[in-house]
Amino acid sequence: DLLVVGSANADLVIGVERRPDAGETVLGSDLAVHPGGKGANQAVAAARLGARTVLLARVGDDDYGRLLLDSQRAAGVDTVGVLVGGAPTGVALITVDPSGDNSIVVSPGANGRLAPGDVRAAASLFHASRVVSTQLEIPLETVVEVVRSLAPDSRFVLNPSPPRPLPREVLAACDPLIVNEHEAKVILGDACVSERPEDWARILLAKGPRSVVVTLGAEGALVASSAGVSRVPSVKVDAVDTTGAGDAFTAALAWRLGTGESLAEAAAYAARVGAAAVTKPGAQASYPTAAEAEAL
Ligand code: ADP
Repeated sequence: DLLVVGSANADLVIGVERRPDAGETVLGSDLAVHPGGKGANQAVAAARLGARTVLLARVGDDDYGRLLLDSQRAAGVDTVGVLVGGAPTGVALITVDPSGDNSIVVSPGANGRLAPGDVRAAASLFHASRVVSTQLEIPLETVVEVVRSLAPDSRFVLNPSPPRPLPREVLAACDPLIVNEHEAKVILGDACVSERPEDWARILLAKGPRSVVVTLGAEGALVASSAGVSRVPSVKVDAVDTTGAGDAFTAALAWRLGTGESLAEAAAYAARVGAAAVTKPGAQASYPTAAEAEAL
């Protein structure tokens, strides 16, 4: 099974002609509410592909929390690990301007209350999981507890988003660490001495992960391990909306690793899933079934 530990947010989206300045009010489009958050997105993406998936997350005892639970169940995710209460459901307030650029304010809410104790209380989920996938929209101490809770033969996949410096203990557990260009630069910090993604992958690997994947949007991805660095080709598609593509990529990769594929094989599959996800608007609404991913 795949265990996703992470965030669940309601995305509240309003189209605007332009963003308000301080003290100003602008009128926008009708409000659209979508289930989101990196953990919830990953779980839905994996389940839609056919993976047996469990989500460990926290939502509020409110309408947005119920929306998130409903969308997980509709995709086939096991929600036994979704805890309810402690704070309002996490929310992302998103404005989108006519050029498609967005500005986002996130209130972590219940995601910020997903505590190390919640991870310890879910020990049985960790024992039943071959792969555990996490991001950084939950407290870092909770991510550290995830690493400490891994079953001896299970694999840890981390997309450090939003990026911040990581303790050695977390880096050393990653197999792989999955970063896009921006995340690579933040995690590398002063060590980012090159503009070549191949170099980022090598330098990141030297920081301790067992393997590294750098995603490069329309350019596909790179995989790096002790066996060297190799390129994963992209799939040519007409991109409509790249929201949530990285989450779909990570979920697909984590699931395929759990079925025994090599990192290169799993990344090639994930690139198809990421490409399929950019051909439709939205995040969760854009995620393909296995048949749709294969048809690309
Ligand atoms: P993020 O969404 O985290 O910024 P990327 O933009 O690198 O991550 O996208 C993740 C993966 O999704 C890429 O590695 C690629 O496989 C796929 N992908 C993203 N954008 C495109 C695109 N325009 N065409 C084809 N595949 C894409």
